[in-house]
Amino acid sequence: MVKTNYHTHTTFCDGKNSPEELVEWAIQRNFTDLGFSAHSIFPFSSSMHLAAENHEKYCREIRRLKEKFPHKIRILVGFEAEFLLPDYLPLQSNYSEFQPDFLIGAVHMLSGKSAAALGFQGDFGDGHFSVDGPADHVKEGIQRIFGGDGKLACQVYFASVREMVATCDFDIVAHPDVLRRRNSILRFFHEDASWYKDELEKTARVLSQSGKIIEINTGGIARNCVTTPYPSPEFLRLIHEGGGKICINSDCHRMEYLDAAYDVAIKTAETAGFKSIMVLSAENHWKEIDIKDFGCQ
Ligand SMILES: [Zn+2]
Ligand SMILES: [Zn+2]
Repeated sequence: MVKTNYHTHTTFCDGKNSPEELVEWAIQRNFTDLGFSAHSIFPFSSSMHLAAENHEKYCREIRRLKEKFPHKIRILVGFEAEFLLPDYLPLQSNYSEFQPDFLIGAVHMLSGKSAAALGFQGDFGDGHFSVDGPADHVKEGIQRIFGGDGKLACQVYFASVREMVATCDFDIVAHPDVLRRRNSILRFFHEDASWYKDELEKTARVLSQSGKIIEINTGGIARNCVTTPYPSPEFLRLIHEGGGKICINSDCHRMEYLDAAYDVAIKTAETAGFKSIMVLSAENHWKEIDIKDFGCQ
């Protein structure tokens, strides 16, 4: 059995546990591979991201653990690298000095500047906001930047994901519909609206053809925000239809959620038609394994 998670946050960014606590927990939970993925916007910093000056220290600590537990678990160092036009891009060249084992590309933030850079026209408000922030923060951001237009915020979000996937050379695409996280409270879009389905179709096509690995992310389920993983079952079905490849990640911020809802992720993947999961081989190449060989427990 193989059991992997490449999406793990620690006290170096906004996680609650130290890397060592997480490694010990992962060994207890029968993980074969644990990848760390600090939020990063290098060479910049923000309160939710790893401070620019701590990148080196973070990598050193993860590599120390790699040496401490060589036969028990495979430990990998990575980043969840932010995409926000025009300045923040998850490019290997931005991170090459840290020699990460993998890079996750993620869209969390939207801004008027990024909307304009993507070709949207309008009178956008200042600043930015994170679509997976607290509900009142998301509500205020949509109001301030998009005049309360939730549909426009969604369209800018999906356009950002497509642009990131098409132009940046990272490995794993993070939670490609994480904007669902606060929708059960805010109701700023309907997943059955035809324009929303159009966005999913367009985005699934770009994701599937990119050759990147799309994560099934169970973090929203662990935190009781959604009842299905990111991407939603419908989105995942479209990704499968297009020939996309997937991995399974928990986007863990607390060690007790390290394998939260992995059974749900597997079931959702199988229902969408997937027969295989992508994992990083010992030589650091992505390889396909049978979904039946991926462990949940
Ligand atoms: Zn994220
Ligand atoms: Zn994350």
